[in-house]
Order: sequence, then C-alpha cells, then structure tokens
Amino acid sequence: MRVPTVRANDIVVVGAGPVGLWTAIQLKKRYAGANIVIYERHEVYQRFHVLRLDHWSLLLYGAFNRQPWEQAFYQDVTGKSVGRVRLAFSRSLYIRTNDLETALRAYASHEGLTLVNRKISSAAEVQALHPGCTMFVAADGAHSVLRQELLGSDAVTRHDLQRVVELKFETVGEPRRLSLRQLWQLNRRLPFTVTEHVGRKKGEATPVTLRLLVDRATYDALPEMSFKSPLSLGHTGLPASIRDSVTAYLEFREAELRTAAIPNSSRLSKLPLHLYAAKNFAVLHGSRAWFLVGDAAMGVPYFRSLNCGMLLGSRLAMLVGRNGGLEPKKLPKLVARFERRRAVHVAVEFNIARAKDGVLNLFKSVRAAVASAHP
Ligand SMILES: Cc1cc2nc3c(=O)[nH]c(=O)nc-3n(C[C@H](O)[C@H](O)[C@H](O)COP(=O)(O)OP(=O)(O)OC[C@H]3O[C@@H](n4cnc5c(N)ncnc54)[C@H](O)[C@@H]3O)c2cc1C
Repeated sequence: MRVPTVRANDIVVVGAGPVGLWTAIQLKKRYAGANIVIYERHEVYQRFHVLRLDHWSLLLYGAFNRQPWEQAFYQDVTGKSVGRVRLAFSRSLYIRTNDLETALRAYASHEGLTLVNRKISSAAEVQALHPGCTMFVAADGAHSVLRQELLGSDAVTRHDLQRVVELKFETVGEPRRLSLRQLWQLNRRLPFTVTEHVGRKKGEATPVTLRLLVDRATYDALPEMSFKSPLSLGHTGLPASIRDSVTAYLEFREAELRTAAIPNSSRLSKLPLHLYAAKNFAVLHGSRAWFLVGDAAMGVPYFRSLNCGMLLGSRLAMLVGRNGGLEPKKLPKLVARFERRRAVHVAVEFNIARAKDGVLNLFKSVRAAVASAHP
C-alpha cells in the first residue's frame, strides 16, 4: 500500500467517520499549509442510522472559505446555501450517516485531504508511518483503540442514564409523526414511557424510531438485541410486555396517522443511555501531540453526540490555527489549551444531557401519578 509522502507540517487523523472528516476539513481551513492524511479501516462507511444534525454544529467555531465545493456540501447536506443555514442557525435536520459521510468525503477530497484505507493498530504504527509529523488526531470512534493505548484502560468516566428498547422501522410516503396529544394518549395506555422520532424521507421510505424507557428488571430480562444484531418483533424470546407495547404502538399509529410500517422493516434493539468522557482529550507522546475528538473523546445521548463531536473538532482546528505552528516547542501550549476546552465542553454537554434526562424523568413521574390517580 502506498503511504503518502510526508512533509514536516503534516497532520494525521485516524478514523474517517463524520467527526474525523469534519475535523480534518476544519484543520485544513485553519492551517492551509498542512498536508493532512486521514486513515480509515473501511472502504465504505458501515452505518446507515439517521442522525440529527443541528445547523449551529456546522457554524459555531467553523471556518468558511467560500469555495464552490463548500457551497455544494452545505446544499447537499442541508438543502440550503451557507447564508441560509446561518439565517436558520437554530434549526436541525435529519440525515443518514452514510449520506453525511459521502458528502464529507467529497468535501474533504476537494479540500485536498488524503484518505488512506488502512487499519491503524497503534499510535506507534502511525507515528512510524509519519516520522516528521507532530500532530495526530484520534477520531476512531467509541471503542477507540488509540484512547486505550494513549490514556490506559481506565481512561473513561461513565454515568448511566436511562435503559432503552428501540424499535426502528420504515413507513411509506410523507413523514408523519404523532402529535403531543396522541403521544400522551399512547403513554397513558402503555406500561412504559415512550417517545417517537421521525426521520427524513429517502426514496419512498421514512425511518421512524420508537423508544421505550424500561425499568432495570425488564431490561435485564431481555435477550441480546443490539443495534448491529437486532431482533424482529416475532422473536420468541421477547417479554410479553415489550411485544404487546410495541404492537399497541404500531396499531395506534396506523389508526391515527393512516400509515403502516413497511412489512419486515421492524428491528428491535436495547441500549443503555450513558454519558462518558475520556479523562484527557490531549496528551503529549514523546515529541508528538495526540488529540481525541468525536466518540473517541466523549459520548452523550439524546441526539447530541455527532453535534458535540463536530463542535469539538471545529474548536480544535481553531486552536491549531491560533497556535502559530506545530513545532514540538509549541505543542505543550496547544495541548494545555485543548485540555482547558475539555473541561468546558464536557460540563456543557453533560449538563445538556442531564437536563434532557431530567425532563424525561419528570414526564415518567407525571405519567405514573396520572396512572395511579385514574387507573
Ligand atoms: C443508532 C445510533 C443513533 C445515533 N443518533 C444520533 C443522532 O441523532 N444525533 C447525533 O448527534 N448522534 C447520534 N449518534 C451518534 C453518532 O453516530 C456518533 O456520535 C458519530 O457517528 C461519531 O462520529 P465519529 O466520527 O466520532 O465516530 P464513528 O462514526 O464511530 O467513526 C469512527 C471511524 O473510525 C474508523 N476506525 C475505527 N478504528 C480504526 C482504526 N483502528 N484504524 C482506522 N480507522 C478506524 C471507523 O471505521 C469509523 O469510520 C447515534 C449513534 C447510533 C449508534
């Protein structure tokens, strides 16, 4: 495999997920002279789930160079020009991860970034491939091997929030969602608190996700059913309370919205919602500096992780732009600045997640109180 020629001001990013690509693009804009190389183990992005992307995650700390491909990227992802995204900065959009990935790869390629398909096994391996490089970015996802190597196995602090069963399915036709009144009616009928998220139509299909917030005993009694290996609704190992709740929801939805789930499109998985953050987001490794971004650095639930990762990536690029170079003697200042940013970023994102969790807990209590007052 051909390894790109390296110059002294190279920056290497490991992981071409949405945050790795976004960070690399932002770094290139802030540090135009850099030769940026991104390593990715897969040739084709492996995930297809729907993400909520807030407009301001593209804008805040972001750099713009008004190139035609920048406009093309914003048009492709948001359906709007950069100017219109700015005007609607508080809006969000839904996009499939592979569509975002495709748009980011095209954007990165126009910016002159080099993408190499190679699995990186260790920091030492990639450092040996780039002996002149001083800045490395670990964007290798939630199960980051680089984080573990650089910070140790106890590198992450984690706080559990809700336990969730997710039903994902598709409907035909225009996206339709239950109103708050309908959702409340449904919540009064079911033994679990439920929320619904309706994604963006693609072709003829609209993705829908139902979330059931379940108690620990129900969660522990569930068979293995993960996002990667989901179960069908007909699986015999499912507890009756889950199967009946999901069936009641689908029937209610069909009756109220006159839109049915596409046959065989339903998939069930379970997941614990939690917050986590690495104890450091930047570390000096000999004369090189490593920076963690995206899910490698931290994770937050309730549709924030991608947004949180992109903001962190843009912020890192901004700090690099202001650092006045990446020579070894300038790295400790950059590392210290990014570490200070870590404290603020984690506090803000954890508090947003805890506030959302508090609203859900309040809703659960109200629902339980109403159910006991009007059995
Ligand atoms: C079901 C689901 C729904 C979600 N919904 C939302 C949502 O609505 N809103 C939101 O903001 N977030 C959401 N998220 C989270 C969001 O998907 C992640 O935050 C986002 O994908 C993180 O991007 P990333 O680039 O940090 O990591 P990843 O997307 O995990 O990308 C990491 C990349 O690194 C590559 N890689 C890993 N190890 C190596 C290696 N050793 N060598 C080379 N390459 C490597 C991987 O192949 C991958 O391409 C959701 C996540 C899931 C699972």
